[in-house]
Amino acid sequence: MNILVTGGAGYVGSHAARLLTREGHRVVVYDNLERGHAAAVLDLPLVQGHLSDRELLARTMREKQIDAVMHFAAFALVGESVTDPNLYYENNVVGSLRLLQAMRDAGVTKIVFSSTTATYGEPEKSPIAETTPQHPINPYGYSKLAVEHLLTDFAAAYGIGFAALRYFNASGASADGVIGEDHRPESHLIPIVLQVALGQREKISIFGDDYPTLDGTCIRDYIHVDDLGSAHLKALNQLQPGKGLKLNLGSGVGYSVREVIDMCREVTGHAIPAAIGPRRPGDPPALVADSSLAQRTLGWQCCYSDLRTIVTSAWNWHRAHPQGYGG
Ligand code: UDP
Repeated sequence: MNILVTGGAGYVGSHAARLLTREGHRVVVYDNLERGHAAAVLDLPLVQGHLSDRELLARTMREKQIDAVMHFAAFALVGESVTDPNLYYENNVVGSLRLLQAMRDAGVTKIVFSSTTATYGEPEKSPIAETTPQHPINPYGYSKLAVEHLLTDFAAAYGIGFAALRYFNASGASADGVIGEDHRPESHLIPIVLQVALGQREKISIFGDDYPTLDGTCIRDYIHVDDLGSAHLKALNQLQPGKGLKLNLGSGVGYSVREVIDMCREVTGHAIPAAIGPRRPGDPPALVADSSLAQRTLGWQCCYSDLRTIVTSAWNWHRAHPQGYGG
């Protein structure tokens, strides 16, 4: 298929674009490079543009004879979404609306969308199945949930086929170390811990050790970015006109912040000093996926999401690219 990958210069999008190419699809990356990195696109064709540019989107889809869209382009910093919600509603919601309009202009009817566990907010029970009520607790979560609603309504009224894939904690890097994770600023646990191992930070601050978990630190479900990619590929093949899939993507295994730091110590051989800091507002104690619906529906399972493989792949990339894509 000819696939337009929005946000293909970003972390998850760049890994998925590469996977799609390897599977014989023809990818066109659409990215404004505001937060993504041209270097992450490698040698794939890149159209530099904004999601707000409906005309350019539609023209690109027509000219490249696009069959389906994978929509990764979004802002994804929870804290920033609280201080600047306008940015999030504009880029994530209005941007996605423009993309859907452009799809209609160009007659493209298939889309796979990056949704998030943040649409669930602070669920009372873990593991989290798709039946868990979605009550986001920040504008980022709301912006992604709004797009899920847009997709649902566009499917019912205009016949698009979609999958909204709710990621848990995307992590790791490509096995060959060619592309990896580089957010500016970095806020994610594993890259920050590895920056300590690289001597770029003095210590890792653990955001709270008084949670009701075994060791008092928060538990998350880390899923390798290439396992996310393979789920996208499988979802693409299941899209049906007028219908939507809404699926959790996680490994189903939770690790505490302390366990992640310990694994980073083991993999890097670095002592990685840690200090207990205050809780980060809005952090639920435990978020672990029940991904059994995705497994059944897509015939998919995680292959790289054990914590050692995740951390080893991330370490290989960070070690080889200590300045990320800037070095
Ligand atoms: N975390 C931490 N110190 C950091 C960054 C993150 O203790 O410097 C914790 C955070 O509170 C959460 C977990 O690590 O419990 C994963 O955070 P991350 O930002 O990577 O992903 P999130 O779960 O927020 O999407």
